[in-house]
Amino acid sequence: MTDLRRELHLLISIAKLDGDLNACRTELALLPAKIEEVNKSVAVIDKAMSEAAAHFEDMKKERRSLERMLDDHTEKIKKLRTQLMEVKTNKEYTAMLQEIEHLEKGIDDKEERLLILMDELDQQSARNRGFTSENEEKRKHLLTEKTNLENRTKALGETVKRLEAEKPKILAELDPLTKKRYDRILAKLGDFAVAHVEADICHGCFSRIPPQTALEVKKNDQIITCEVCGRILVFYGA
Ligand SMILES: [Zn+2]
Repeated sequence: MTDLRRELHLLISIAKLDGDLNACRTELALLPAKIEEVNKSVAVIDKAMSEAAAHFEDMKKERRSLERMLDDHTEKIKKLRTQLMEVKTNKEYTAMLQEIEHLEKGIDDKEERLLILMDELDQQSARNRGFTSENEEKRKHLLTEKTNLENRTKALGETVKRLEAEKPKILAELDPLTKKRYDRILAKLGDFAVAHVEADICHGCFSRIPPQTALEVKKNDQIITCEVCGRILVFYGA
């Protein structure tokens, strides 16, 4: 009896270790997608920020171009007015006046556009400040989240390695007969050979255990297998 109790104790350790391993692996499998999700969110923010910056640059470019055109037109009008004094024919005079008028009209239009643009630039600049600080805050949070997920991946990977190294040591302590039985079940089922019983349910196949069997399992003094899945049943409380 004492030996069997020792065996059961080892089998409980194996069931717990398998449970931990399974939990770690399940969580690990989900992490790459979570990290990818964070990367995508960061990319969306970066794109929005660079688009806002590009739009602002375009507006500034338009302002510079308008200012250049205004200088250019003003200069041309100045020159034409000087030339006006020197023209010889009426025809030339009229043509030149028309050109001056045309340029002046152009200046009016451009000045009007420039005023609107300056106003838009002021508004955009204020908007951009809010937009940038809000996005930088979001970005910072996302990067922290990413670091946490990466750290979690590393920690879980290390735990899996440690548990995987620990398991053969426990198995080696099993009585050869128990070990054979264990190996046979594992070979047949592929995943794990010891299942714990909780609320009269086998946590290997989730079948209900007959109450009498469940009571026997709770004693942890004999090797009992699940009638449905064939796994060794152990009890270690909730
Ligand atoms: Zn079962």
